[in-house]
Formats: sequence, C-alpha cells, structure tokens
Amino acid sequence: MPVLDFLNPVKGFGVTFREMFKKVDTVMYPEDKRPTAPRFHGHHQLNRWPDGLEKCIGCELCAWACPADAIYVEGRDNTPEERYSPGERYGHVYQINYLRCILCGLCIEACPTRALTMTNEYELADDDREKLIWTKEQLLVPLLETMEAPPHAMRLGKDEKDYYRLGGAGVSPTGRAPGMSGPGGPSGPAVPATATDEDVPGQDEVKPGGEQATYSGQEAEL
Ligand code: SF4
Ligand code: SF4
Repeated sequence: MPVLDFLNPVKGFGVTFREMFKKVDTVMYPEDKRPTAPRFHGHHQLNRWPDGLEKCIGCELCAWACPADAIYVEGRDNTPEERYSPGERYGHVYQINYLRCILCGLCIEACPTRALTMTNEYELADDDREKLIWTKEQLLVPLLETMEAPPHAMRLGKDEKDYYRLGGAGVSPTGRAPGMSGPGGPSGPAVPATATDEDVPGQDEVKPGGEQATYSGQEAEL
C-alpha cells in the first residue's frame, strides 16, 4: 500500500472545497429572466403575410413530420368571398399539444411556407392539461397596424406573382391592391391593365428587392 493512500478520502473533498469558493450562478427565476440563446426552441408561432393573411395553407406537412404526434391540422378551401390565406386552402383548425411536443423543430423544417416558426419563449408550464393544447388563435401572431384581419382579398401587388414577391420583401399593402379604396380598388379610380408603377400614385413606395421595412416577429422570406 503506497504511503500516501491514506489521503485519498480527503482528496475526494477537493472538488467540493473548490466549488464552495466559486461565484454562485443561481438565477432568481421567475423574478430574473435571462435571455435565451438566439436559436433556442421555444413555443411555436403561426406567421402572417404583410397584409394580414395567414401563411398557413393547411397542408398538414408539419403534422406528418412530427415524431410526437403533437400537431392537429384541419384544412379548408378559401373562397373569393372568404379568404384567409393566399393559397387554395387555409388551416381552419390548428392545434399543438405541448404535453407531447419535445420542441425538436422538425415541424418548422417541414413547413413549405414558413408559416410555422419557433419563438424563444419557454414558459409553457401549467397545472391544467387542457391549457397545454394551444389553438390557432393562441399561436397566430397578432395583427400589426398595417394589417387587416382575414378574411379578405390578397392585398399586395396586382397579381399572385407580385403578392409573393412583395410579401416576401415585407412590403405593406398599397392603394392599388384589389379590394381597397385606392387606385385600382373597387371604390377607387381605375388603373389600366397596361399601367406601369410610375402611373399609379403611391406605387413608388413599392420597391421589390429594395430596402423595405420588415416586421418584427414575422418571417419575411419564403
Ligand atoms: S417541435 Fe417537434 S415535437 Fe414539437 S410539434 Fe414540432 S415536430 Fe412535433
Ligand atoms: S404550418 Fe406549414 S406545414 Fe403546417 S399545415 Fe400550415 S403550411 Fe402546412
């Protein structure tokens, strides 16, 4: 038996003594809330286009991708009178069950329109199981001042191509958008189909690909 073996039990306390004199890193949660890492997976959100229409097209790809079977989606058809998203369909019922969700992010990878993204918000605990099944109303981002609550027509640019181009650049609705009272709208002055942007008052604000304001919390790119 080596001579110094009798010191082994004392050596075992070395780590304990070292830690005792280090600065304590205890956070007084919930009074003190530290910001998370930028890519931290918190709860989900359903995003909107800049005119307020929903990005979700009710395709259910997120639900199929989910390994925990935590998402339930029921899609419905949009109609010209009742449009909630720019596509053919929209998510009529959308639920995420946070009793099942493991916050892995596979659903947001599967979403083709970037309708579904994740926030950094981690406060998901509750003492009521029912409250942990979040509905579409809880998940949808609130309307900004420049947005209009669906259902309504697509309000960006003059055709569908314009809509996605301008919407992707974060452009606000303009006077020419159908259904509005500005030029080109049903109650505004007519705009000929051959009109260029320079002919239309207010259209100079629209600069696809140029510097445009994007909205905090909204996904600007497809
Ligand atoms: S984060 Fe993962 S577990 Fe949670 S809903 Fe999405 S795919 Fe399912
Ligand atoms: S959130 Fe995305 S993947 Fe899920 S139903 Fe809507 S569009 Fe499809």
